[in-house]
Amino acid sequence: MDFLFTEEQERFRQEVRSFLDKELPSDWVDYIGTAIDDTVAPRKDGEQVFKDIAHKLGKKGWLSLFWPKEYGGQSCSYVDYLIFLEEIASRGSPGYNAVGVKMLAPTLFKYGTEGQKERHLKLITKGEEFWCEGFTEPNAGSDLASLQTKAVKDSNDYIINGQKTWSTFANYSDWCCLLARTDPELKRHRGISFFLVDLSTP
Ligand SMILES: Cc1cc2nc3c(=O)[nH]c(=O)nc-3n(C[C@H](O)[C@H](O)[C@H](O)COP(=O)(O)OP(=O)(O)OC[C@H]3O[C@@H](n4cnc5c(N)ncnc54)[C@H](O)[C@@H]3O)c2cc1C
Repeated sequence: MDFLFTEEQERFRQEVRSFLDKELPSDWVDYIGTAIDDTVAPRKDGEQVFKDIAHKLGKKGWLSLFWPKEYGGQSCSYVDYLIFLEEIASRGSPGYNAVGVKMLAPTLFKYGTEGQKERHLKLITKGEEFWCEGFTEPNAGSDLASLQTKAVKDSNDYIINGQKTWSTFANYSDWCCLLARTDPELKRHRGISFFLVDLSTP
């Protein structure tokens, strides 16, 4: 079996590298440093840089590499997708909203309503809608079944109360996919629902 990348895959890797050479701000490495070193003030335009690069990645079709064509994706192999991830990770590149692209989207492919797919997928592929994940709580990490956030039905809405932590991308995000307890009568690892929460709601 040949484990080497194909010529086409090597070309794709070069294309991603060239894109990052051209598009990443020249002082980007310094900015990454501020994410690790909290004695250095974070770059003020960090969010804008993230969104600008996301938009450009979207135009390239790289935010939907492994998505099926029927959802606006490229139907590429996972190897192509991993090449892309390797390159952006090695440069600490902004713009790749993993929660939207690889966590929320596949969930919508399988369980989403047509309305949810229509509403969200196109914007995620364009790098115009950003998602965070609200699973972990101060007292629910590895043992996620101990989560305490509650969602209570109120006619057509749910009222959600609780506290989440560790939500990567939350400061940039428009939406959050969030776990909340909807049936406290069931065993603790059941009765938990997956909500799509518009972060502009109170
Ligand atoms: C960089 C980063 C980004 C993250 N982003 C997100 C995000 O976007 N959204 C989100 O919801 N969460 C996010 N998380 C949270 C992450 O998923 C939690 O940290 C994880 O679920 C662990 O929970 P905890 O930190 O509370 O640790 P705990 O669950 O309290 O674990 C503490 C320690 O106890 C050990 N331990 C736990 N249970 C057992 C057991 N039964 N037996 C033996 N040992 C055990 C663990 O291995 C660990 O060493 C992120 C975390 C990190 C580090």
